[in-house]
Amino acid sequence: MAKIQAIRGMNDILPEQTPVWQYVESTVRQVLGQYGYQEIRMPVVEQTELFKRSIGEVTDIVEKEMYTFDDRNGDSLTLRPEGTAGCVRAAEEHGLLFNQTRRLWYTGPMFRHERPQKGRYRQFHQIGVECFGMDGPDIDAELLILTARLWQVLGLAGHTRLEINSIGTSEARKVYRQALVDYLDQYRDQLDDDSKRRLTTNPLRILDSKDAGTRKILDGAPSLDDYLDDESRAHFEQLKGLLDAAGVKYSVNPALVRGLDYYGKTVFEWITDSLGAQGTVCAGGRYDGLVEQLGGKPTKAVGFAMGLERLILLLETLELVPDYVNNHADVYVTAVGDKVIAPAMAIAEELRSALPGRVVVTHCGGGSFKSQMKKADRSGARYAVILGENELASGNVGLKPLRDDEPQQDIARSELAQALASRLAQ
Ligand code: ATP
Ligand code: MG
Repeated sequence: MAKIQAIRGMNDILPEQTPVWQYVESTVRQVLGQYGYQEIRMPVVEQTELFKRSIGEVTDIVEKEMYTFDDRNGDSLTLRPEGTAGCVRAAEEHGLLFNQTRRLWYTGPMFRHERPQKGRYRQFHQIGVECFGMDGPDIDAELLILTARLWQVLGLAGHTRLEINSIGTSEARKVYRQALVDYLDQYRDQLDDDSKRRLTTNPLRILDSKDAGTRKILDGAPSLDDYLDDESRAHFEQLKGLLDAAGVKYSVNPALVRGLDYYGKTVFEWITDSLGAQGTVCAGGRYDGLVEQLGGKPTKAVGFAMGLERLILLLETLELVPDYVNNHADVYVTAVGDKVIAPAMAIAEELRSALPGRVVVTHCGGGSFKSQMKKADRSGARYAVILGENELASGNVGLKPLRDDEPQQDIARSELAQALASRLAQ
């Protein structure tokens, strides 16, 4: 019978890979904790309507990327393609936004039916951050300062660059959109097909078209910058000042518009040049209108999401994963002969109590001394504790270094933990 395989674009994360995932997740968690951000966990499935109303009907995500299905009772449900909508829904539903400010984060899988390729999958993982009830630009700056710190901690500081832009209020964008459409309409026949379609659905998205012909036409297009309202302009100037003061480098990219409808004012992307086309590792912006759009009271909001697959790919490509990030054993306890199984397990327990930060693996499944030593070696452990019937009778154990040529030593069982502690610390 043919074996059943995983769904295309949905990856298993194997035991060899989980240490680097845990490393990235715990580093982000720690940095967010330092800034007082609190974790929120939402379901991975929401009503389809939530995404249509928030992300926008004519965006790539809603038009062609969502996993949508009818529940058994006929409700239309969707696997979340991103976390902001669900986070706003949850925060609003539980009264987290009323008369207060919130700094929230979440992590988990997201689902988009895209063409799978390096750095682009159908199930992928994000860490998202959302802040509510703050006008900015101070909180906008905080988000960028904290991401800059994260890159620093991960060793990525020299490998990511920040692009920022202001896309103004929705009123300003409406006026600009018309000017852009009027201009592009003259060149309609020369636009690429996607851009032609977007001319009527989502014209701002044409600005980040990669098509060479379209790019050429865009050179002469009106600039969003000229249409910004005064408040957005002042907000953006202040944000730049705060970033300058904090020493966070950026460049202003007037073509940066982001693909989701709910953004306004500040938008930004952290980009790397080391991953080819899938170079955006973190992206976000301000979305002051969304809470109200979803039925809540007007609430200022700003957030971002980073793609964990891309971040991990980047760390691996640049060989920035620290050596200690692995799931190797430190100590492997062998047990040759039925009589020594219980004492070997007891010794391993003593070691786990005495060395709480270390990985102590007990041999299970019997076998010859030779086969047990082979397993000890494969576990990656630095030391094997050797326990056979002779050792048991003598009250000693054998301590054998596995990674260098040092000879095996006999050590009293009572001194084993101390001996290992000092050796492993070297
Ligand atoms: P892109 O332009 O690469 O399609 P996007 O604008 O659709 O990205 P967002 O919705 O802003 O992406 O999501 C934030 C981050 O999540 C992205 O910057 C990226 O790191 C990651 N991401 C988005 N889609 C995918 C995917 N299909 N596979 C892996 N990571 C993804
Ligand atoms: Mg996309």
